[in-house]
This record gives sequence, structure tokens and C-alpha cells, in this order.
Amino acid sequence: MSYHVFMTTAAPRQASGGASAPGARHAVTLIAGDGIGPEVAQATKAILEAAGARIDWEDAVAGKEAFDKGIGNGVAPETLESLARTRVALKGPLETPVGHGGKSANVTLRKLFEMYGNIRPCKELPNVQGPFAGRGIDLIVVRENVEDVYAGIEHMQTPGVAQCLKLISQKGCEKIVRLTYELARAQGRKMVHTATKANIMKMTEGYLKRVAEQVSQEYPDIKSEHIIIDNCCHKLVMSPEKFDVIVSTNMNGDIVSDLTSGLVGGLGLAPSMNIGDDAIMFEAVHGTAPDIAGQDKANPTALLLAAVMMLRHFGMFDTAMAIEHALWVTLEGGTFTGDIALGRPAVGTKKFTETIMSNLGKTSAGLGTREYKPIKMPQVAKAPDLVKAAQRQDVGVDVFIESGLLPDAFGKAVEKATWGCALKLKNVSNRGVQVWPTAASAFDGVDHYGCRFFPAEPKAKVTDKQVTDLLTKLTTAGLRWMHIEKLIEIDGKPGFAKSQGES
Ligand code: NAD
Repeated sequence: MSYHVFMTTAAPRQASGGASAPGARHAVTLIAGDGIGPEVAQATKAILEAAGARIDWEDAVAGKEAFDKGIGNGVAPETLESLARTRVALKGPLETPVGHGGKSANVTLRKLFEMYGNIRPCKELPNVQGPFAGRGIDLIVVRENVEDVYAGIEHMQTPGVAQCLKLISQKGCEKIVRLTYELARAQGRKMVHTATKANIMKMTEGYLKRVAEQVSQEYPDIKSEHIIIDNCCHKLVMSPEKFDVIVSTNMNGDIVSDLTSGLVGGLGLAPSMNIGDDAIMFEAVHGTAPDIAGQDKANPTALLLAAVMMLRHFGMFDTAMAIEHALWVTLEGGTFTGDIALGRPAVGTKKFTETIMSNLGKTSAGLGTREYKPIKMPQVAKAPDLVKAAQRQDVGVDVFIESGLLPDAFGKAVEKATWGCALKLKNVSNRGVQVWPTAASAFDGVDHYGCRFFPAEPKAKVTDKQVTDLLTKLTTAGLRWMHIEKLIEIDGKPGFAKSQGES
């Protein structure tokens, strides 16, 4: 059965806001995973059962076992069916095969179920030593999970120049920003930072900034600020306790959320949740830790904290709190796995798990109180063409051409080749910097030129025929073009960036 078939036949229901009637049981797809996965999954399951969590587990296979069976995307069809049914997974780490052409099973799961939001809380745990211990860090990074350069749209442009498309949509930004504010509200958080590189990538990164500025107005109870991503990293290291919620695009969010995991003691402690309208998957941030797999050394805390988020998603707030207290009491009492012992006596996974179970029912004064509510999932229209322009016009074209000529010779060659065309060469750039007809600095470019053409007659309409005529003339002159970009104006505003140095 193909994924598409069962997605359309599965009963439509929302993945989040999953809280249901008190006492209700919830089915969960349990993917134990590879390496230390089965050990931490077993520990987590045991603690949840001891705490009285009302979960019906469906064991499922993904990762190494699936790849070994020849399943190219690393996820068994039965696992996809289980997740389409339960809509909720708790997942151990999965091994990504290197060099066999296999896709990441993690990415398969996230993409097939359009889990567009990656939520990574980062909270200081008691007795965990490190340079930031005692600061009271308690923040969340929300990372957009499906767009940006991670869409993996890559092309070799010339034998020596590669390109990756960074696609950012209003819809993607709106979904992630609304999810962030709903999450902030559900946890009574006070401040959202939108972290972008909008100062450089005004259209793509700037999209998140603009959408956040708009959407934040609907949440006057939450303070909102924009921060440039590099400054965000700097401030996270200087004063991480000042951050509450951070939302970012996919790649920046990936990097920042690993940084924040490091602030509170590392991978063994960092939980994560991948959320979309169709499914939600809770997991640890860490990988399969092959160096300690099967040795009773793994720290189950990250997956346990992911499961605590899952319980809150189901509305089992008291059970979630009881487990958090038991974990806190365990660490306060000096029971540690090797990764966080740092010279103190360490116990194995099993002993650590048993200690947490024996501490269920005890409370820690250090945990603090936070009132949780279910996240209200944002409702963003599904239409692919969500944004419509009142007016739009093709005003020119960028043609990217491979050439080993120096800029002056290249500019003249293109000018000569396209002489008499309806579209006239305005300027040439190399990696975004204008190099012809004038250049600001010495040239040390590559064989990848961007040629910007506008109509020879000012303000004339650009047609596809004019563009194809232009391309034909370039090809005839032996100038190899590898891609074009139409230059459009949307509602009177240019929809393209200027080159560095372009007037
Ligand atoms: P890793 O997270 O597996 O290990 C890095 C280091 O952290 C190791 O020294 C390991 O022993 C330690 N560590 C990690 N989790 C721990 C825990 N719970 N308790 C104690 N120590 C822990 O990263 P890696 O070595 O780069 O990756 C190994 C494999 O995991 C690769 O195949 C990779 O693709 C995969 N991976 C999967 C996921 C996922 O499933 N979400 C995430 C990251 C990596």
C-alpha cells in the first residue's frame, strides 16, 4: 500500500491538541530504533507504565532493520500504516547508512507526515555540571522543519560550482510562527525571539521576520522581538537564561537548537518533538551512540523527557509532572549515568531507570511550577497558492552562464551575442557581486556569471518569446547557460535582489 493511499483513507483528525477525555487511553507507535535506542525506549516505557500513563504501544520498525530488509527509505510499510493510524510516535534514534545511497529514515518520517515544526526544549537539570549550571536556563527552540536549504534541492551549475535552493514560503513561515506563539501560550511563556539572517537574505530569511511581525500582533500577551541569528548565538552563550522561546528557519534552527542542548549538559538530556497536522513524533535529539550501545551505559533522560512532552500532548499533565519530579529527585539524590557523572560515581541505564521509578510520587522543590495547556494547532489554509498578487509583471530576466572568460571579455561577448534582442544586458555579476560594466574590486571569481537583462525599450513588457530568443542567441554564440530566473514585480515592488555594487 502506498503512503499516499493510506493518508487519504485515514480518518482526518488533528495530530496536536490531542488531549482527550480524562481516563482515555492513547495508541502510540513505538519505534525503539538502533544502537542505544532499544535500551532507552525500554527504560522510558517502563517509567511511563510505572507512572500509570494510559498508553497502548504499537511496536514498529524503522532504521537499520528496515534498511537491512532492503527498504530504501528506512521505514517499514507497517510502521507508516501504524503512524497513519495512531498519529503519534515515540521514536528512538535511527542509524543513517553512510555511503549506500540510503535515505535517512528520520527524514522520511518527518517529510512523509509533513511534520513542519521541530520543538526542542532546553531546561537546566539539577546536579548536572557544566559552565552554565545554576543559570536557570529554561527555553525552547522552534525550528521550521521542512523548508529552507534542507529541502535538498541541489544542482551542480558547472563542474566546479554547486547550488542549493533556499525556498521559504509565506505559508511555511505562518505555520511555524503561529505554532510558536500557540506553544508559548500553552506554556505561559512571556517572550518570543524570531531569529533570522534577514539583514542579508531579505526575501527568504526576511519572510520569517515579516510574518512574525504580523502574527505577533495577535498575541499581545507575549513580548516579541526580532534578533539576528548570529547575535542570538552570541547572546545565548553570554546570557542564555534571558531567552524564553526562539523561532527560526530550518538550518539556523538546527544549529541553534544543538547549541542550546550543549548549554544544559548535552545530547543525553535533550528531547525533541516533530509536529504537523497529520502526525507528531517525539524523540531524543541524540543519535544511536554506537560506542556505548548494548553496554547498559545510555542515559534515557532525553527520550524520557520527550515522552513527558507526549503525555502533555495527550493531556496527561499530572502523570507528566510526576515523572519530571521523579527525574529531578533522582538527579538531586546523586544518581547519574556515565555521560553526566563527570568524575562522580555512575550507574547503568537499568539502575538509573529503577531509581526514577522508585522516586515516583516524590516531589522536588527545585523543579518549579509551570502550568501547561495543550497546544492549539494553528489553522493555516491548505491552498498551495495561499498568497495572491493583485498585480504582477515580468520585468526582466537573469540568465546564468558558465564561462572561463574574465569579466570584461565575458560582458562584451554576451553583449555581442545578444545584440538586437528585445532584452538588453544591464550588468553581469559573479557570486552576487557586480563585475561588469563596472566592478568595485579585483576579480577572483568563478565560471558562473549572472547576466541581468531588461527590455531595451524602458518599461516594455517582457514576453517568454523574448526570453527564448535571447537564450537561443546565447547558445548559438557558444555561451552555455545553465539556468534562468524571471525578474518579477509583485504589486509594484521588485521581487529580486540587486547584486552587490548594482545601481
Ligand atoms: P550520537 O548522538 O549517537 O553520539 C554522540 C556522542 O554522544 C557519543 O559519544 C555517544 O556515546 C554520546 N551519547 C549520545 N546519546 C547518549 C545517551 N543517551 N547517553 C549517553 N551518551 C550518549 O551521534 P553520532 O555518533 O554522530 O551518530 C551516530 C548515529 O546516530 C549515526 O548513524 C547518525 O546518523 C545517527 N543519528 C540519529 C539521530 C536520530 O535518530 N534522530 C540523530 C543524530 C544521529
